Amino acid sequence: MDEKDRFGQKIHDREKAHEDQWARQRDQELLDKLRKHPAELHCPQCHALLKPETVAGLAVMRCAHGHGGWLDHENLAKLTDRK
Ligand SMILES: [Zn+2]
Repeated sequence: MDEKDRFGQKIHDREKAHEDQWARQRDQELLDKLRKHPAELHCPQCHALLKPETVAGLAVMRCAHGHGGWLDHENLAKLTDRK
């Protein structure tokens, strides 16, 4: 690898680290928002408590047994705007 390639790789690594940090921060903000919902949500199929998670940049309350999840109005709007 020559000097130019190493420099390019360094810049790429640095950009990737910034993106990862931004994504982590965004996910944390989404989860903090979800946790502010006053009511506990339960899965309509197995009645397990839904857990806050981020999926593809959306904050969802998800059944740990894989039955599905719940999106609030804001996240549902984000999903339908993507198309
Ligand atoms: Zn369930």
